[in-house]
Amino acid sequence: MHRPSVPEADRLIGVKHPVLSHGFVVLVDYMGNDAAIVQAARVSYGQGTKSVRDDRGLIRYLMRHRHTTPFEMVEYKFLVRLPIFVARQWVRHRTVSLNEYSARYSVIPDEFEVPPPEEVRHQSTRNRQGRGEPLPAEVVEAFRSDLDRISRESYGAYQRALDAGVARETARLVLPVAYYTQWYWKINLHNLFHFLSLRLDAHAQEEIRLYAAELARIARIVCPVAFEAFEDFQLSGLDLSRREQRAVRALLEGKSPAEACEIAGLPLTRDDGKPMATGEGVEFLEKLERLRARDASVGPG
Ligand SMILES: Cc1cc2nc3c(=O)[nH]c(=O)nc-3n(C[C@H](O)[C@H](O)[C@H](O)COP(=O)(O)OP(=O)(O)OC[C@H]3O[C@@H](n4cnc5c(N)ncnc54)[C@H](O)[C@@H]3O)c2cc1C
Repeated sequence: MHRPSVPEADRLIGVKHPVLSHGFVVLVDYMGNDAAIVQAARVSYGQGTKSVRDDRGLIRYLMRHRHTTPFEMVEYKFLVRLPIFVARQWVRHRTVSLNEYSARYSVIPDEFEVPPPEEVRHQSTRNRQGRGEPLPAEVVEAFRSDLDRISRESYGAYQRALDAGVARETARLVLPVAYYTQWYWKINLHNLFHFLSLRLDAHAQEEIRLYAAELARIARIVCPVAFEAFEDFQLSGLDLSRREQRAVRALLEGKSPAEACEIAGLPLTRDDGKPMATGEGVEFLEKLERLRARDASVGPG
């Protein structure tokens, strides 16, 4: 029986794609491709007599109608090297198989992440979890130099502990979350799409977004048609709540966005009359902005 493969993806196997200062993503192996999704959906063997156009239509139908199981037929195995603070976010995605480098057996290398100056910014006022406006250069440099110094001092303490015979599982406690870990990560395409929809999003932390972007680039090469459908219907699709649909109807009737929000019960101001920075009304206006910005980027495909 023929094993489905994608020559461009085969050439990627084992290639390190750098992320951050010391991290990387490697495609170790994959199973399946767009044809495997189609085959599962048709519950048949081989590609049958359907045309490529029909296959594309079927994959887009599956994605549109959330018939997700056929996407589980494609698997990716990655080797990922990442800072521990990124790993803490990453492990929240549970629908995967993960095997992490053991710092009980092995000595952790002296590699830690210091963000580039442009990534050290003010606490965001809009996204409470994120970063916002630039900081004065001296604040940025003080933070970066503190992080560098503390990390080096911690590694010194780690080495001293190891030299004195402290077990590796205990000595590692002195290392900060800027240090790197490494794991094999195996995931099917359905769950990878879910991971990417959350971690490519602007609300996700910049560092994990960089990893997600590499994973997305590789996933696309293995399954270009499924990835295009994912981009069209999930990643770049827009959900509209019942209230938001009411607001869109008001816009279609010629109301302004502020009037449409008022009619639909999507608040834009607080009780004291001040404009809201977050909330359903603000997010609806953001969706309108995204629609305006996207118009220009939508091509014929
Ligand atoms: C921007 C952002 C901010 C976040 N902030 C925080 C935070 O502050 N604190 C924090 O702890 N986490 C935070 N998270 C993690 C988040 O809550 C999810 O745990 C993470 O995104 C994984 O999503 P998931 O559970 O859908 O994925 P997976 O674990 O891959 O699960 C996929 C799906 O399987 C189902 N599933 C899996 N496990 C269970 C279960 N035990 N019970 C029911 N259904 C299950 C669910 O339908 C789930 O959507 C954040 C995530 C993002 C993207």
